[in-house]
Amino acid sequence: MAFRSWRRPSRRMVLTSVAAVAMTSVVGGVAYSAGAATQQPAIQTSTPHSEKQVTNIDVLRQQLRNYYGDPLGTGTFAADSNYAKEARKAAAAGTRWISLPHHTTKTKAIVLDVDDTSLATWNYEIFSNWAYNPATNADYVLNQRFPAVPGMVDLVKTAEREGYAIFFLTGRGAAQEQATLGNLTADGIGVDAGYPKPTALSNGEDGLFTKPAVADYPDYLKKACAGDPNGSCTTIHYKSATRAHIESLGYDIVANFGDQFSDLKGGFADRTFKLPNPNYYLP
Ligand SMILES: [Mg+2]
Repeated sequence: MAFRSWRRPSRRMVLTSVAAVAMTSVVGGVAYSAGAATQQPAIQTSTPHSEKQVTNIDVLRQQLRNYYGDPLGTGTFAADSNYAKEARKAAAAGTRWISLPHHTTKTKAIVLDVDDTSLATWNYEIFSNWAYNPATNADYVLNQRFPAVPGMVDLVKTAEREGYAIFFLTGRGAAQEQATLGNLTADGIGVDAGYPKPTALSNGEDGLFTKPAVADYPDYLKKACAGDPNGSCTTIHYKSATRAHIESLGYDIVANFGDQFSDLKGGFADRTFKLPNPNYYLP
């Protein structure tokens, strides 16, 4: 399944699971056939008893445009929007934490997710009307069209000044590594967000971790994800095993930044920081 190497494999998995359940329902004439009885939707949430308990999705989309300070949906969020304020607040909390004394014999490090943690994908949400599509998303990624998340470049510059190693850890595939690096830093193509370059690790690995194809997994991912479907890492296993690998090389991850709970679960960070993202959910 080629799409599994894209940024949001789990979203495709959600759609696949939902479609499978729906088909089962039609064919079997019951809600869940015996074969699907153990299948769980990827997002587990409540079941509304009434439409009054949920927000109409068109109204919700407008609320999100308002939150990003972009009521007409131009794809450009406003610097004084509630989104930008909330992102800067998370970045400021992270900056305060990393600036405290942290006594460790290891090299201090921070880990950052890319999409909607370091780079804001609001323009793509508007373009796609919140419907992720790997082909159109790749156009935005490869043309480096994403601006920085407010407050985050200053945070990473502060970390660099204070001697931290800087690591980025993304579900984007290995084929998108160069474009991702160019968008994050400065290569003169598309947007240059102005982040410091990721730090090379003590073993020579580069400090921007993209998700490899299963066949190319390093041993630490093979081992950590052996029990996952088809041996392909879930987001939580991919990210926590990579953080464990980083710490095994002599680093103390003082702070881990992400917009998804799956970026932050699984340990191997002294503290986690959640960036705002009401646009999608990656289990
Ligand atoms: Mg993200």
